[in-house]
Order: sequence, then structure tokens, then C-alpha cells
Amino acid sequence: MARGNFKAAQRDYELALKIDGRSALARLNLAATMLQDQQVEKGKALLSKAFELGLSTREEKITALLTRFLLGDVEGTEKAVALYLESNPPVATILFVRAMVTLRSGHIDQAVELLRAVADKGIQNAAIVFQVANLYVALNRVADAHELLGRALKLHTRSTKLADQLRMVAARFLSAGQTKTLLREPFEVTYEVSTSPDLLDRILDQCKRHYESLANRMSIRPTRIVLKIFDSTGFTSPAYYNNLTGDITISGSFFRQAQGHIDGFVSHAFNHELAHLFVWNAKNQTTRSVNCLWIDEGLAEFLSGGVDYLRDLPLDLASSFADGPLAMSDLIGNINMLWHDKTKNVKAYVQSYYMVDYLMEKAASGRTALVKIQDLLDRVARDVPLEQAIVAVYGMAYVDFEKGWRSHLSSRLSGGE
Ligand SMILES: [Zn+2]
Repeated sequence: MARGNFKAAQRDYELALKIDGRSALARLNLAATMLQDQQVEKGKALLSKAFELGLSTREEKITALLTRFLLGDVEGTEKAVALYLESNPPVATILFVRAMVTLRSGHIDQAVELLRAVADKGIQNAAIVFQVANLYVALNRVADAHELLGRALKLHTRSTKLADQLRMVAARFLSAGQTKTLLREPFEVTYEVSTSPDLLDRILDQCKRHYESLANRMSIRPTRIVLKIFDSTGFTSPAYYNNLTGDITISGSFFRQAQGHIDGFVSHAFNHELAHLFVWNAKNQTTRSVNCLWIDEGLAEFLSGGVDYLRDLPLDLASSFADGPLAMSDLIGNINMLWHDKTKNVKAYVQSYYMVDYLMEKAASGRTALVKIQDLLDRVARDVPLEQAIVAVYGMAYVDFEKGWRSHLSSRLSGGE
């Protein structure tokens, strides 16, 4: 949703409130748009007023529950889910929210049980199937993803999205079980037996090179890094860092096929994923708020050399920013692996990078800049609202931050230094 649409939606809900001042639903909807637009304090006030008025309809209860979830209020969401389930049937969307909340509080086994229930109840809904399968792959449960997609495709025979996902997952699933492990400090590598020794060497050389440059830059040396190499990973990217398990999954086929302009992109992708690992080193298994995604991704781009590699790809950044930067909710939504829109995904990464780049420039020295941005990331990951965290870490009002990164972004996009 573009910023303009957001404002229009807010105006609609405000009007609905004027017509019926006791409408809990209008208040909730307004709260949801405010939260997604980083107006957290206003959103919270509306939310508590809506609760005061009492929630009676099913729609009100679901909206309240999703709003709590958006707020990062794990406990409140759990309560709202329980309340909902007292008098309503356990529909797939509600169970999915419950699974996400359970995952966020770090109970992986319990979350997997819930995902099974979501899959069974929500199999009629291709979007839910897609999301559940993605979560399964993220949790390294490829067999579950494979089984679910196979089952779902019998119902959704014309879904190319599910068929593509099944193809990727199947390639990885079929080779599972035939793996070897080798130790090349600090890397502990699990790879498919079909991986050629040459490919293995090339991947490890590159990881080692990126490791050294990150270690220098960040003054830490993680002692054990788990890499998993599959020809097909089940994802459409060359590499993937899993913040729950702390390992990096690498696609051998991307690397094999990397030549010409794609080389820089694949190398950058390894560097980027390794940067995540350095940032979250020793802090993985902590689930975090989606609101920190832009900082996490922007920082990984910053640490892996910025977005220069995009110049080698057939992309037109100027035209993708022609209608201005993404609104905060849209930015986060398009980074999120579960819901992102492909065409906006690159734009979201570029924008996140320049927002982080702006903050790095704002901080005094290189070392301080790194400490500050990690402090900001930690706070937002723990659901401190960005508008508060920016003031606390940078002593900058949120409106100034907005103005600042916007002008930094537009000057960089137009080639300014
Ligand atoms: Zn990333």
C-alpha cells in the first residue's frame, strides 16, 4: 500500500468514527493502520479505547487479535486468541497467528504442532499453504513441506506458485539423507554427496574471504559456523541465514550457474548472509519483531559492501523509486519472507540499506556507528517502537530521522555522494 492509500484508509476510519463514535471496529482498524505506519502511541490509545468499548462481533475480535500481534504484544495476542477460541471455531488464520506467536516465544516444537493443524484446516487456502510450507523450510522441516505441498497441489491444480514451491522443495527433499560433513575451521559443512569437490572448495574459499573481512570490520571471530550445502535449498535465493537455528543454507546450483553478471550477486548474497550471522552471533534462537527487519537487512547490506552489486543486474532503480520510497509498513511487508511482493522486494532492500547508511553517517566514528546501529536493532527487535528507539539511541526526533533518510536516499539515487 502506498503512503497515500494509507492516509486515505486512515481518513475513512476516522470518518466512520465520527458517524458512530461507539464503533469498536472503526477504532481497531484505525489503530491497525496507525501501528503499521509507526504511529505506535496513537495506535495503542485507540486500541485500549476499543477494548473499553467491548468487542462482541467475530470481526472485532479477529481485528483486535491481529492488532495485538502487529504491536508485538505476544502475551496479549495469546490471550486474545484464547478468548476468541472460547466461543468460535479454530479457523486456520487464527491458528496461524497462534503458531507465529508460539514461534516468536521460542517454542519451536509446539509451533510445528500448530502448523500441522493450520495445514490441515487451511489446505483449501493456497496462501496459507504457501506460508506454512515456507515456515517449514525455514525450520529445516523439508519433509513436512514436501508432504504438505504434494497434498495441496491435488486441490490447487492450477496454482503455479505452489507448483514452483513444490519443485524447489522436492529437489532438496529427494537428496536429503545422502550428506557428508567436514570441518574446515570455523566452518562445519554439511553437503550433499553429489556436490563436486571443486564446487565445495570454491564455496568455502568465498565464505572464508567474507569471514575475514567481517571479522576485521566487527572485531569478532565466531568460532563455529554451520553451513549446509544443497543443490536446491527450497528457497529462491543463493543463501539463507536461519536466525532460529543459526546456520546458513547455501544453494549449490546458484553457485554452479554463477557466471558473468550473476557472480557479483551470488558472492554478495553469501557475504550478506554471513553478515547476519555476525550480527546475531550468540544471540540466535531469539525470535524478534518484524519491525526490526529493515534495520537487520539494511545493516547486512551495509556490512557486505552496500548495493553496488545491483549495478550488474538488469534493474532500473530510478524508475522503481519514481513514486517515492515505501511507507514503513510496506517496507517491512516486502522484506518479510512470508508475504513479500517480488517486484517491491529489491526496492525494500535498497531503501533499508540507505536508511541504515544514513544512520551510520549520523554516528560519529565507524566503531560508534556500528555499536549504535546494533543497539537500535536490539531495541526494535524487542518491540521498542522505532519512534522511541531513534530518540533513545541517536537523540534524534522521529520526524527528523524521516526527513534525513528521505533526503539521503534521494541524493544517493540521483548519484550524489
Ligand atoms: Zn538478509
